[in-house]
Amino acid sequence: MNESLKHLLDLQEVDLRIAEKTRAIAAIDNGARFKTLLHTVQQQLVSNQAALQEIERQIRDGEMELKTIESKIKSLEDKAYSGKVTNVKELSGIEQEIAMFQRNKGKQEERILPLYDAAEALRTEIEAARRMAEAASKKVDAIGAKFEQQSAELRTELAGLEKRRGKAAQRIEPRLLQRYEAVKPKVGGLVVVPVKDGRCGGCNMALSSFLLRELPDESRMRTCETCSRFIYSEE
Ligand SMILES: [Zn+2]
Repeated sequence: MNESLKHLLDLQEVDLRIAEKTRAIAAIDNGARFKTLLHTVQQQLVSNQAALQEIERQIRDGEMELKTIESKIKSLEDKAYSGKVTNVKELSGIEQEIAMFQRNKGKQEERILPLYDAAEALRTEIEAARRMAEAASKKVDAIGAKFEQQSAELRTELAGLEKRRGKAAQRIEPRLLQRYEAVKPKVGGLVVVPVKDGRCGGCNMALSSFLLRELPDESRMRTCETCSRFIYSEE
């Protein structure tokens, strides 16, 4: 086997292993799924807490208003039944006023009641979201630690391979190396392929009879006329 071919095949082997390690690193679970979940839950938590605060404010205002109405009713009742008011007309006026405040009180209570339910529902949601956020956060930490360990191992292996690649590349003639590097991103993977039944082992296109005749002459590397990969005869 021609030396250039041997060196090119060595480089290709290292490159395939580098690609494999790179894919393995990319495939390790980095916890992105749980990070996204955590982020969503935290956002929901913040908006639910803001909504709860607003409802609690409305409840406080409503209860205050209710107390004001109740004290007005109380003072009107005190006045009406104190025995000081003897005028029938005046008494009936006070009673009408009391009735009006009672109606207001009823309306106010109707307004507040659903707010209590809404606040309760929000508190339940917030509690559930808190628990979910806590679980997701633990998951993110655990996956993160595992990711660091696994990727560190793979990165060490990758660094070793890169070093080997540097040495393998140095053995190749600059002209051939340049060609190899130029073709590699275009074909993705194999750049140096055997000829099979007169066809390129990479793109599977038939090679010209001229090229096939030249192939046994190993004094120089040949390339496929279609895909530009380096080709060699396996015999
Ligand atoms: Zn080809």
